[in-house]
Amino acid sequence: MPRRTLLAFALGLVLLVTGCGGPGRTPQRVTAQPSVPAAPTPTPSPKPQPSRTTPKPKPTLRPLPKKLPVGLHRRSGSPGVALTFDDGPDPRYTPQILAQLRAAHVTATFCLVGKQAKRYPHLVAQIVREGHQLCNHSWRHDVDLGRRPAAEIRADLERTNRAIRAAAPDAPITWFRQPGGRWTAEELTVARQLGLRPLHWSVDPQDWDHPPAKKIIARVESAAHHGSVVLMHDAGGDRTQTMAACRRLIPDLKRRYGIVRLR
Ligand SMILES: [Zn+2]
Repeated sequence: MPRRTLLAFALGLVLLVTGCGGPGRTPQRVTAQPSVPAAPTPTPSPKPQPSRTTPKPKPTLRPLPKKLPVGLHRRSGSPGVALTFDDGPDPRYTPQILAQLRAAHVTATFCLVGKQAKRYPHLVAQIVREGHQLCNHSWRHDVDLGRRPAAEIRADLERTNRAIRAAAPDAPITWFRQPGGRWTAEELTVARQLGLRPLHWSVDPQDWDHPPAKKIIARVESAAHHGSVVLMHDAGGDRTQTMAACRRLIPDLKRRYGIVRLR
């Protein structure tokens, strides 16, 4: 009897040692032969190999708030209307809209995607040379950027700023606009820490959905008021209809409200 008790105790001890594992232990490290002493812990390598049994954790996205956070700029800051063009620069459409703005002697704000700025630095330089304002629109138009960890948001905005500054070293980058307008309060905090003011809009003709120019014109003209910020796109798809609409909208808005710089 005492011998059997001793055996049971020894077996229990073995199970305890091999089966439970500490917090840092993974099941596949459990040795099949408990009598063999465990191999010494290997020196931690600088690049840990991902475990085959542990699935890669999904990126943690914070939920979008039900309402847009407070503090977004949706007004031009004066009685005139401000025009904003998103997602560029684009070699097909950015030069066209620049020519229209130049001809009307007005300026706009260009919300630039970092990858596009890196690819077309001469267009960034031209936008700045012609007196327009700059807005950071994230590195790759990440509609979920605001839901990511603050460090990732910061890295994205800084990378985008670097690409813009590489093309136009002395140009101030005043604004940041979250792609899709999917803002979070955390993102606003990061943008402010980087000296970027959060720019939203008040008039959205949904030109990204390729409505005919007539519809873009009607939507803007029915919604625009003194102090409106109009959202349009000079990149990200076929913008022929936006370009056509602007030929009418720019002179009309200028006459009715004035076209102003964002303040
Ligand atoms: Zn966009």
